[in-house]
Amino acid sequence: MFWADRIASEIADTRKPRDGKRFLIRDEKTLSGRVHVGSMRGVAIHGLIAEILTEQGIANEYRYELNDFDDFDTVPGYLDAERFAPYLGMSLCKVPSPQPGFDNYADYFGAELAGVISAAGFTPNYYRAYADLYKAGKMNAPIRTALERTDDIRRILKAVSGSEKDEQWMPISVVCPHCGKLKTTRAGDFDGETVAYVCDQSPYGATPCGASGRVSPFDGAAKLYWKVDWAAKWVALGVDIEGGGKDHSTKGGSRDVANHISREVFNYEPPFDIPYEFFLVGGKKMSSSKGKGSSAKDMCDLFPPEVFRLALVGKDIREQIDVDPAGESVPRMYDWYDELAQHAREGAGDDWARLFALAQLPDMRAAAEPIWQMRFREVAFAVQMPHLDLLKEAALAKGGGLSDDEEAKLEERARYARYWLATYAPEEFKYELQQTMPVAALSEAQQKALRMLRAFIDSGNPSGEEIHAKLHALKEEAPIAPKELFQAIYRIFLARDSGPKAGPFLAGLPRDLVLARLAEAINS
Ligand SMILES: [Zn+2]
Repeated sequence: MFWADRIASEIADTRKPRDGKRFLIRDEKTLSGRVHVGSMRGVAIHGLIAEILTEQGIANEYRYELNDFDDFDTVPGYLDAERFAPYLGMSLCKVPSPQPGFDNYADYFGAELAGVISAAGFTPNYYRAYADLYKAGKMNAPIRTALERTDDIRRILKAVSGSEKDEQWMPISVVCPHCGKLKTTRAGDFDGETVAYVCDQSPYGATPCGASGRVSPFDGAAKLYWKVDWAAKWVALGVDIEGGGKDHSTKGGSRDVANHISREVFNYEPPFDIPYEFFLVGGKKMSSSKGKGSSAKDMCDLFPPEVFRLALVGKDIREQIDVDPAGESVPRMYDWYDELAQHAREGAGDDWARLFALAQLPDMRAAAEPIWQMRFREVAFAVQMPHLDLLKEAALAKGGGLSDDEEAKLEERARYARYWLATYAPEEFKYELQQTMPVAALSEAQQKALRMLRAFIDSGNPSGEEIHAKLHALKEEAPIAPKELFQAIYRIFLARDSGPKAGPFLAGLPRDLVLARLAEAINS
């Protein structure tokens, strides 16, 4: 059974919506900068579970938190350090937007993330941590509970994660009424209405102002520490289903702590958990501030929606995803999609067909046809050959004319291929047909084989398959090792040692050019 169907059944079998009406599914992202593609895995897992529950007639709501109340703890490398350093320690919603047109920093990066989520066909209801939860007073009750039961929280932190807090410690950060910073303060002595605070901490280089006094911790004037905050949000919103990345899911990890706090402090059974593996970029779990091609937006731009969705949901949650924009994994992702489509065309009623359907955007799913498409790597090659007519090449590859839908998808794929070639594609995928004969020292055997190949082409107008057969026959006839022969061909036409399938490649070139170039190579 496909992993998301397995999880959806488990939810339906073991849980009832807490409010008696609909399951509340929740995920969130702290908007500390450009969002890494890894965060899209959570978006997609929760989104797909929502889609499947809906498909089964089970009411649900998917809410996504744009977390703008967490503190700004690093100036990302792509921003002006001098301009942004003074805001370190403030809530992300109090930091200015890097670009005009947005209310604040979190809004700016949140808009980019929401754009990617929408492009991938997921439609959560968004809310903001500051305005919609804390400032709206929705966290007041759990804040009161947490402050009244700080001893229990301290005990849980020590027992579950081994973290020791002193007697003065309280699980809350007050927003300093003087300098507006959140992470520079310490709070203590809750009297039922107010807490004492002093602004004297310097985490990650943030500057405290030295103010002290008493302040009400409610209505957005303070924020719970994050493991407490996590559990408190479940209570405040009534969350039924919420997964988390593998890094949070270890024993003694943040989810474990939040679960204990949820049960023991808030008397709330934690949401159904969906622990999932990482989405790696080129084998690395990179920070979003580094690495070209690692942001959600960068990755989204490489694929049409259904292929991007496949990248996000195709693997079981227990398996890592690894995509390298600058490697072969981009064409391989397209190959995987095409394979699914082929299975679907052949009517295979297994997980493959199910995955093909779920990769489609929800509103297109019913009408989606698993049409034939030209392989991405072949499209990428063809768009680099000025003499080739892409549509003609596609018809040759398909073995017949293309339908209107197939033609439209071909044009789309050509756009993605051109974009990939212009951005991340590695050298091995870049081809340039040499207008003049490149310098190529060919061996006797290579020259002899090319002479025989030229005679073969000159004697008729062979197709790509016929040339392919001849190239293999030359192994005995010349004789020559196939590798030597192919290398000679790539060298004289492309000035490189490897290339596309040589038969169709030669057949696709203007015949005069092939004959002239082979003649030149033989005489050189
Ligand atoms: Zn201050």
